[in-house]
Amino acid sequence: MSGIDFAKLSVASCADALAKKEYSSEELVKAIAANIRRNDDKIHAFLNFDEEAALRAAKESDARRASGKALSAFDGIPVGMKDNIAVTGETLSCASKILAPVKSPYDATAVAKLKNQGFIPFGRLNMDEFAMGSSCENSAFFPTANPLDTSRVPGGSSGGSAAAVAAKFLPSALGSDTGGSIRQPASFCGTVGLKPTYGRVSRYGLVAFASSLDQIGPLSPCVEDAAIILDAVSGHDPMDATSLDLAGTHALAAVREKRDTQLKGMKIGLPKEYYASSGLDSGVAKVFGEAIENLKKLGAEIVEVSLPHTEYAVAVYYIVATAEASANLARFDGIRYGDRKAGRDLVDTYFKSRGAGFGAEVKRRILLGTYVLSSGYYDAYYLRAQKVRTLIKRDFEEAFKSCDLLLTPVAPNLPFHFGEKSDPLQMYLSDIFTIALNLAGNCGISIPGGVDAESGLPVGIQLIAPSLAEEKLLGAAAVYEKQAFAFTGKPFGC
Ligand code: GLN
Repeated sequence: MSGIDFAKLSVASCADALAKKEYSSEELVKAIAANIRRNDDKIHAFLNFDEEAALRAAKESDARRASGKALSAFDGIPVGMKDNIAVTGETLSCASKILAPVKSPYDATAVAKLKNQGFIPFGRLNMDEFAMGSSCENSAFFPTANPLDTSRVPGGSSGGSAAAVAAKFLPSALGSDTGGSIRQPASFCGTVGLKPTYGRVSRYGLVAFASSLDQIGPLSPCVEDAAIILDAVSGHDPMDATSLDLAGTHALAAVREKRDTQLKGMKIGLPKEYYASSGLDSGVAKVFGEAIENLKKLGAEIVEVSLPHTEYAVAVYYIVATAEASANLARFDGIRYGDRKAGRDLVDTYFKSRGAGFGAEVKRRILLGTYVLSSGYYDAYYLRAQKVRTLIKRDFEEAFKSCDLLLTPVAPNLPFHFGEKSDPLQMYLSDIFTIALNLAGNCGISIPGGVDAESGLPVGIQLIAPSLAEEKLLGAAAVYEKQAFAFTGKPFGC
C-alpha cells in the first residue's frame, strides 16, 4: 500500500486511488481512523465513531471491487455525518443531552442513497445543539475548534462537519443548513459548503429543526466533491412530503464540463443591500472585492441588483424558525422521545426531562417560538413573518430576471474566538447573508474566496442560484475554484 496523502484527501482523489488499487477501502478506513485518533483531541470534531462498523463495510466494499461488482466509482469511501442525520445503529444526539442515549433504528434517505453507491457513513460529527447556533459552542458535550486556528470557532451549526473536512480527517461530510449552517462553517474553515434547493434532498431521517427551511448538503474540500455528494443524495423520496418530484442532479458532469471554461456571457448580480452592509469586517470586504475582480477577469459581467427586504430576513427567520422548532421539539418530552427524568407525575416528568435535557439556547428558542404562535400574538408575529417571507422570495425571483447568479459574502465576520459572541442577538446577526436563501428556498454555495491578509484566516464567498439551478451553480463555482486562484498563485481545490 502506498501511503495516503492526507493533504489531498477528497472523494475524487480516493476514488482515483481505489480504482488504481493504490490502497483498499479497508486500508483507507484504518488510516483515517488512526489519523482521527491521533489528532482529533485538538479539534474535537467527532462526538464518536464506530470503527468496527466502518471496517466491516470497507471489507464488503473491497470484496465487491475484487469481483468487479463495485456499486459505483465511490464504493468504499467514508463520508462524515452530522449527528442529526440518522444512520442505523449510530448515535443521533443532535449534540443534545436529551437524545444522548438514542441509537438510530434506521437510515436517513440521504444515507441510504450514499450506501447504495457504496459510500461508508463514518463517525458522528459535533454540532450546535439541534442545529441552533453559528459557532458549535452550543453543543451540550464540548465545543469544536477551528483546525486553522484552534483558539477560534469553526462556525456552526455543522461545525464538526466543516472541521473534519478542513482537518483532513474525512474526504467529505454531510451537514444540514436551516439558516446558513453548512455555508458559514464552510467559510470559517476554508472548505466548500452547498445548500441545495429546498426539496432537492430528502429530509427523511434528518432530525427536524425548522421543517420549512432545513436541507441536507455536503461540506467538501472542493466543488467536485460537493457535486459528487449532491448527485448521490438528491432525488425524489416518497418518505418526505416536501421532496420534489424530480430525479437526482447531474452536477458532477456539469462541473467536469465547465471547469476549464470561462464565465463569458454570465451575469453575476451584487445585491446592493449586502455589500453596502456596514457590519462587514474589513478583511472580509477586501476578499469580497478581490472576488468581484476575479469574476470579471473570468469574463463574467457584474451587475447591481436589489433585494429590498434583506433587512427583515434575520427577524423573519427567528420567528419562522423558532415557531417551527417549538412544534418539532415538543416530541422530546421524556415520554414519547428523549431521556426520561422521572417526576412526581406526568407534568413534573415533562418539566424535569425537558429542563435537564435541553440547553439554554434551545430553551430560548422554544420559548420564543411558543410565544409567536400563541393566540393574540400569532397574527402580529408569525403571520406577518410569513408574509414578509413571501416578499423575500419575490426579491430573489425579481433579481434573477436580470442575472444568472448572485455573489455575496457568506458571513460578515472572520472566524471569531470562543466566547466572543456571548450575546445571542450578536450571534443571530452573523447569519445575515445566509438566512434569506433558506427563507426563499433556492440554492447557494460557499467556496473559499481568499485569505484575510492580517490574520491568515479563510474568507468564503457565496454564489446563489435560482431554485433547481444546482448544475449551473456548481459549474460556475468550479470555474472560479479552478481559475480564479491562477491570478493569485494560491493553491486551491481538490
Ligand atoms: N445559525 C442559524 C441558527 O442558529 C442557522 C442554523 C442552521 O442553519 N441550522 O439558527
